[in-house]
Amino acid sequence: MSESTKYLLDEEHLPKAWYNLAADLEAPAPPVNPGTGQPMGPDDLTRLFATGVVEQEMSTERWIDIPQPVREVYRLWRPSPLIRARRLEKALDTPARIFFKYEGVSPAGSHKPNSAIAQAFYNQQDGVKRLVTETGAGQWGSSLAFAGDLFDLDVRVYMVKISFNQKPYRRALMETYGATCIASPSSETAAGRAILEANPDSNGSLGIAISEAVEIAASRDDTKYALGSVMNHVCLHQTIIGEEAMMQMEMADADPDIVIGCVGGGSNFAGLAFPYMREKLKGKAVRCIGVEPTSCPTLTKGAVAYDFGDTGKLTPLVRMHTLGSGFMPPGTHAGGLRYHGMAPMVSLAMEKGLMEARSYQQTECFAAAVTFARNEGIVPAPESSHAIKAVMDEALRCKAEGKADTILFNLSGHGHFDMQAYTDYFGGKMTDTPFDQAALDASLATLPKVAV
Ligand SMILES: *Cc1c(COP(=O)(O)O)cnc(C)c1O
Repeated sequence: MSESTKYLLDEEHLPKAWYNLAADLEAPAPPVNPGTGQPMGPDDLTRLFATGVVEQEMSTERWIDIPQPVREVYRLWRPSPLIRARRLEKALDTPARIFFKYEGVSPAGSHKPNSAIAQAFYNQQDGVKRLVTETGAGQWGSSLAFAGDLFDLDVRVYMVKISFNQKPYRRALMETYGATCIASPSSETAAGRAILEANPDSNGSLGIAISEAVEIAASRDDTKYALGSVMNHVCLHQTIIGEEAMMQMEMADADPDIVIGCVGGGSNFAGLAFPYMREKLKGKAVRCIGVEPTSCPTLTKGAVAYDFGDTGKLTPLVRMHTLGSGFMPPGTHAGGLRYHGMAPMVSLAMEKGLMEARSYQQTECFAAAVTFARNEGIVPAPESSHAIKAVMDEALRCKAEGKADTILFNLSGHGHFDMQAYTDYFGGKMTDTPFDQAALDASLATLPKVAV
């Protein structure tokens, strides 16, 4: 067994293809037009998305080549390091071996550019001039801003107003990459104006910001929409994480018994876990665990149903685990995990028994993140701290059982733009909201009825 801590691949070993789990599992149910109740085809989707992306959304090919211009940009930070958390192992006094794939080395500080770069490339191929999107905490917005800069696309980001005001540095990062960041609700769209008329002081929400971005994309021929999670093509782009990790685990002469990732829309978890699910389908013994906040427990408490992707009920209906598109999770610091739905492919993996899910409160996740930072040096994003809490629990279980399991997790991003959350945690200002079952029941009662 090697004694090193870091497993670095050279650029030669940058994967040449993304892995599509749909080829080995089954194609997820098609999106449905909420107006007609009919399944949607590629033509319906190319109104909003680039053709290359729509092809991937529907594809059941096992391997999809990563275009050369995308690989060239990936080289700026990929392959990302695989690191063995030896100091954390020692601190926990566990026989378990803990490895993590570190996606915080990307320019935007998370896994999100893996898909932003690919989406910008396919839009440039289509002759698109402008991309619009929404962002909550700002991680997706800054990733797309960076990608648009490299592929000559004008990027407009509708940022949830409360984050726009609270996270000025994320906005500054988007502007540094040349994008325009607009507080949502804005007066630029009918959707935004309607909200402002009813409530001029609206803090905004991800659902409203999606409605604004979709409205702009649908109204202009030179403009398309880009989404940072949930969709099949986003999960596909993220599989470069797992494909690299497999090669690096081999360098480490190790093989994971457990693979762990936090889940918001599901893309970073999918990116690491789907390649391992491929092996699991062939008989490999590996547990895959998705970790979510107790306040927004999509996989652990949601229903599997067709639902809207946004609060404004403008998007296609997608079959997934959902808390209902009107469900309003309490404001926590893990903004990237506050989403009512789930990637349909992750939902399918859950239904097929390929993975398990669990949830944690935010204070216990921050405690885990601080322990991690004090041993490994990296300050995790609040989202990633959920994965770390699960890793530590599994490592302590191994200690209790005298088992030397190998654990691999995705450290989806660093927390350098989230230090206010750490300040709140240290100041005792962070609280855990009890889960509101009545609110969930009420929300699920309003799910759209779809006969497919
Ligand atoms: C956006 C984000 C997430 C959640 O999104 P997924 O699609 O579930 O991966 C997790 N971690 C970080 C650092 C993020 O920026």
